[in-house]
Amino acid sequence: MSYRSISYWFDSLGAEPVSRAALPGDLEVDVAIVGGGFTGAWTAYYLKLADPGCRVALLEADTIGFGASGRNGGFCWASVAGLSNHFKRDPEKGAALREAIKATIDEVGAVCAAEDIEADYRKGGSLTFATNPAQAARVRAHVDGQHALGWSEEDVRWLEPAEVREHMRVASCHGGMFSVNSAGVHPARLARGVADAAERRGAEIYEQTPVTAVEPGCVRTANGVVRAPRIVLGLAGYLSQIPNYRRDAIPAYNYMVATEPLSRETWERIGLPHGKGFSDSSRFIIYAQRTADDRIAIGGRGLHYYYGSAIEPRFEHNPRVDRKLVLALRELIPDLGEVAITHRWGGAFGMSRDMTASVNLDPATGIANAGGYVGDGVAASNLAARTLRDLVLDRQSALVELPWAGHRSPRWEREPLRWLGVRAGTAINASADAIENRTGRRALFHERLLRGLGANLEY
Ligand SMILES: Cc1cc2nc3c(=O)[nH]c(=O)nc-3n(C[C@H](O)[C@H](O)[C@H](O)COP(=O)(O)OP(=O)(O)OC[C@H]3O[C@@H](n4cnc5c(N)ncnc54)[C@H](O)[C@@H]3O)c2cc1C
Repeated sequence: MSYRSISYWFDSLGAEPVSRAALPGDLEVDVAIVGGGFTGAWTAYYLKLADPGCRVALLEADTIGFGASGRNGGFCWASVAGLSNHFKRDPEKGAALREAIKATIDEVGAVCAAEDIEADYRKGGSLTFATNPAQAARVRAHVDGQHALGWSEEDVRWLEPAEVREHMRVASCHGGMFSVNSAGVHPARLARGVADAAERRGAEIYEQTPVTAVEPGCVRTANGVVRAPRIVLGLAGYLSQIPNYRRDAIPAYNYMVATEPLSRETWERIGLPHGKGFSDSSRFIIYAQRTADDRIAIGGRGLHYYYGSAIEPRFEHNPRVDRKLVLALRELIPDLGEVAITHRWGGAFGMSRDMTASVNLDPATGIANAGGYVGDGVAASNLAARTLRDLVLDRQSALVELPWAGHRSPRWEREPLRWLGVRAGTAINASADAIENRTGRRALFHERLLRGLGANLEY
């Protein structure tokens, strides 16, 4: 199989993507990192930067970026799953996390520049449309809430429908929001570029090396055992496949499509510059960006969980969702005309039971884990990696004091309760979206139900 078929991003890497060699046998290192997505690659990079003498080995089951990191929407935005819960618990700590994730957008750009990572990083901000009055009420409340918590009009502002159309010529729109703290990236180039930078600094990277078990001080693979006093898990949704961690996260699938490159005239009509992403504000959002070669890459409209936390190649395509994405695109941009869809793909991100991202190191076992980012992992994984660096190197820093450090999410239920619960949550969210689209009024009954289930995806 060519890696090109993984996603549009892999198809547009340039040269044919190739893997590094597998682990040749037993190994002893200071830090073993499991998983070669953003979390693993950034952690290897920052560890070697901070302590060049630290021996770091990264083990990836397939190839760098094979997971969600090489398949996502490429929105590097200032958002962390569960941030609003931290605000509710302790506004000061919530604000610290929000400032840290905001600064992360620039940090990603700075590393791309310093390490010559050609990841099409462009900080153009993000637009969020309200496509019905209920969404508009929620977006307005969100903007007001952000201002009440200290962000300025510069960071985030409400846009009247006419102002939205100054950014991008969308069809019917009830207003929106513009956030400056967001960049567009080519995610596969970013993941692979960061891994290359870590390797240049001395990290050892082994691909085609699936880890079969993780124990204190020891990572087992079919090729050999890696012994390390510190182990970092950067597995997102794949954590559910590792013994002892099966109920810590679930793999939740999302799907994307990419159009053929659009003509200059079409882009002049649409009006969206490179680096500015857009999304709507339904519960099952759509998110999209203009790629460097002038396509629209769009994803969302659902969250798909397969019984038993299964991850299988056959789940990577979902024609029903692809059709919904194309329809959403046409509704949003009727000016689009006839365009061909050239790429269709899917991937799984990791979701914790309380939909809250976290970074942890258990001092008793030496095992660290970061994940649960849901659809907000591009920036969050960078912040998590810098926090993991400080935890692993036992450094006191402002990062290890952030409220997501040390947060423990509850474990997921056993099957079939897990499947039933996720199915119920997604069905209610979808029904709430449908009601709001039809009536324009907020689906308040559904909202209460979803809060009870801990599954409210409300924007
Ligand atoms: C379709 C889609 C769109 C998204 N859009 C956005 C977006 O626009 N913005 C945003 O912020 N977030 C987005 N996300 C979420 C984001 O992509 C993830 O949160 C992020 O990539 C997670 O990075 P990670 O390194 O933790 O996990 P992953 O990238 O999933 O990496 C885990 C790695 O572990 C490897 N692995 C699995 N099992 C083993 C094993 N046994 N041994 C060794 N290695 C193993 C996998 O091959 C994989 O490479 C999206 C996700 C998807 C799926």
